[in-house]
Amino acid sequence: MLAPVLEKLLILQDRDAKRLALETQIKAVPRDIAAVEQKIAAEKAAIEAARDELKGLETKKKLIETEIGSAEDKLSRYRTQQSQVRKNDEYQALGHEIETTSGAISALEEQELQVMYGIDEAKKRFAQAEAELKANISGHEGRIRTLRERGASLDAEHTAMQGEVAAARGPLAEADLKLYDRIAGRGLPACVPIRGGKCGGCHLKVSSEVESAARGKSSDGKLATCDQCSRLVYWES
Ligand SMILES: [Zn+2]
Repeated sequence: MLAPVLEKLLILQDRDAKRLALETQIKAVPRDIAAVEQKIAAEKAAIEAARDELKGLETKKKLIETEIGSAEDKLSRYRTQQSQVRKNDEYQALGHEIETTSGAISALEEQELQVMYGIDEAKKRFAQAEAELKANISGHEGRIRTLRERGASLDAEHTAMQGEVAAARGPLAEADLKLYDRIAGRGLPACVPIRGGKCGGCHLKVSSEVESAARGKSSDGKLATCDQCSRLVYWES
């Protein structure tokens, strides 16, 4: 037969274990919410990055177009001048300038084409990033909602369990509670059975004094504790 005090301690221990498990779950909720929020932030950042890339390329394209414009102006000025000069060497010098400027324009046009390909790619990336967020956002938001609801229901369960813990502590003597709390403070279980002469907590052999105390055969009626790990031990018949 289990001593009544141990029965009460085991009930308390069971409720404390449930309370602690709830506390662990409650602590995980904000972390889980933060992880989902991070995913949303990362997807938004991908959209921003694609948008910035696109803006950068469009600016580059405008600059190249301006350069092409001024090179073409220069080219038409050279052509007009060439048609007006009389001297052969001047004519040839202008011909050389025309050739150089035409070459520069071709190079700029090639650059512009590359930038335009880049713009097409960036537009695709931007659309893809936007589509990804759009596809995921309701799932992300739903997940956050579920997590918040879970947090609220865990809080309610925890409050109820705190009440149950208090109710389990009520009938216990102050000295027994103090001993239990000291052991439980190092981690549960605080009350363990002796099986095969060994402590159910540290699995080491208990002394015969502890074993008979746990059997309720000691004279002082004090709670028995393991010689090795100091947990409360009880005899399980
Ligand atoms: Zn032990």
